[in-house]
Amino acid sequence: MSREASNVAFSEAQSLIPGGVNSPVRAFKSVGGTPIFIAEGEGAYLKDIDGNKYVDYVQSWGPLIFGHRDETIENAVINAVKSGLSFGAPTEAETQLAKLVVSFFDSIDKVRFVSSGTEAVMSAIRLARGFTGRDDIVKFTGCYHGHSDSLLVEAGSGAATFGNPSSPGVPADFTKHTLLAEYNNIESVRKCFKDSSDIACIIIEPIAGNMGLVPADKEFLAQLRELCDENGALLIFDEVMSGFRASINGAESITGTIPDILTLGKVIGGGMPVGAFGASAKIMAQLSPDGPVYQAGTLSGNPVAMAAGLAALTKLKKNARVMGVLEERGKRLVRGMQEAAKANGINMQIDNRGSMFGFFFNDNEVKNFAHACNSDAKLFAEFHSKMLDAGFYFACSLYETGFISTATTDVMIEDTINASKRIFKEIADAR
Ligand code: PLP
Repeated sequence: MSREASNVAFSEAQSLIPGGVNSPVRAFKSVGGTPIFIAEGEGAYLKDIDGNKYVDYVQSWGPLIFGHRDETIENAVINAVKSGLSFGAPTEAETQLAKLVVSFFDSIDKVRFVSSGTEAVMSAIRLARGFTGRDDIVKFTGCYHGHSDSLLVEAGSGAATFGNPSSPGVPADFTKHTLLAEYNNIESVRKCFKDSSDIACIIIEPIAGNMGLVPADKEFLAQLRELCDENGALLIFDEVMSGFRASINGAESITGTIPDILTLGKVIGGGMPVGAFGASAKIMAQLSPDGPVYQAGTLSGNPVAMAAGLAALTKLKKNARVMGVLEERGKRLVRGMQEAAKANGINMQIDNRGSMFGFFFNDNEVKNFAHACNSDAKLFAEFHSKMLDAGFYFACSLYETGFISTATTDVMIEDTINASKRIFKEIADAR
């Protein structure tokens, strides 16, 4: 498979854009090689500028639950574009999308739209601090909540990939209010509450997707709820990634734990830049212009983005049963790859939730970031590169999650498993 055009495009991009990319993990640094430059997407496939075709298990890092160029979403966007790209004034589409989003979750009465997950979480934290009048927050190592200053501490995703837990440029003063706890370890959270009486909120990815896929234990989430209630702190579920991916009604519906604030992104924009945060009417009343907690955005609630989100979520609501189909396909995929690995003496830990799937080359179960970091990164890089050459595009870091779309067929899943069989054998034979 030649990727000459991508190599040339990457060299040129590097001369103008730091690292040649506009979001670090795209640079393929942790797996080696050159990122492929995309010409177009269609359904479950990506085509690069050399004309190579790949089954896409990244799906733009989550948003495209219906695959590339879904007709309904595409038409909704085209229609919206014809009325104007942006007004900086209210449109009915914002209320319609708000009504739809709120209808999926018990936890939220009102929602505010922004343009990215980072913005959503940053604003949710400010809201929690404003509501409680407290400064400290608890976050978990390996959870990623976007790149705002106070959350870029021991974060997963790209930050983990680059071994850069706290970025230069973030003053220590800004992160001194961020207390760290270990995922799935309630004692570590209890310790935070012992150390501080000023905790505004706990923020967690209830189904973590940024240290690979590591779901929180049900019991652990229930204990977080209890701790928050006992101590007057708020519980924030960051479902920017898992929202409408792990379950149609959020982690709250599968775990039974209801958060105070919910953050969303990715799928709710149908592929356009949308993030959101929501809470009870009482908490949201603190938000500007109703309340004193300031938050704003020139392109927030952008009409084209709202149209894409409305189309995606309306379709999802009508076809809620696809979540079960996607979950089964994801399960088949990771089980098939795990069997293929095992047959060649390679241990793989697997998991999947809804249309999210994950795997680690690890002998032991992965319950937190330290476990995830014990995985075989070299083997992952080798596997990634060989699968790419075989026409299967997996996330280019072991700390990321894979995604199935409704366009991903059973045949594609079988093809992927078969390719993995061949590749694991190749890897084992070369050892
Ligand atoms: N929160 C979570 C759980 C995420 O997975 C991400 C991005 O992957 C973010 C927040 C940040 O979202 P964005 O990249 O849209 O700023």
